[in-house]
Amino acid sequence: MQKKYVPLVAFFTVLLVFAAHLGARLAASAPVFAFAEEKRIYLTFDDGPSTLVTGSILDTLRQEGVKATFFVVSDRIRGREEILRRIVREGHSVGVHSATHRYKEIYASDEALLRDVSVCAKTVARVCGRTPRLYRFPGGLETAHRRALLEQNGYRIVRWNAVCGDEELKNAPPEALCETSLKTARERNVVVLLLHDSAPHRATAEALPAIIRRFRALGYAFCAY
Ligand SMILES: [Zn+2]
Repeated sequence: MQKKYVPLVAFFTVLLVFAAHLGARLAASAPVFAFAEEKRIYLTFDDGPSTLVTGSILDTLRQEGVKATFFVVSDRIRGREEILRRIVREGHSVGVHSATHRYKEIYASDEALLRDVSVCAKTVARVCGRTPRLYRFPGGLETAHRRALLEQNGYRIVRWNAVCGDEELKNAPPEALCETSLKTARERNVVVLLLHDSAPHRATAEALPAIIRRFRALGYAFCAY
């Protein structure tokens, strides 16, 4: 090697060692689970609106700074238009559940199903100026055919993978609803919790603060669709 190149080689050697050292440091400081999925919970309320229960649930959601999704029954909106508007105003999502919630009528035919959905969607749009694009099957009575029908009409179907038990357990106290929520959620990364805000479900409204507290303590973020 010619003498005049020695400083140059030395310079690049130092640079190389420095770069390797820096690379190793960066690799060591990278979090091991950088791509682990964040834990999320979607609180979804079916069968409302009702005057007392929905109002109380909205109070709790506001206090806790949590957004949720409401699948409404349009026959129950009359006289409760302000509650529906409050749901939207406070940043929650509204989806179609049904016009009547009477299974025999809803599922009588494809036409009947689409009519039921359309009546509910139009009522929501008229009352709060927003056309809903989410749908939940009444009674969860989903089939591949019905699902395709709704999707062709532009709806996103929202199922659930955990329940609070307010329909399954008779007269369950709020504590039981909270425990059932945790038990059925089984600490999945993404929980879609089914709750009800129709008139008989005061215990659900009473259980909600504890449900939010417990899932928050487990590291869940609260999301709406
Ligand atoms: Zn329902």
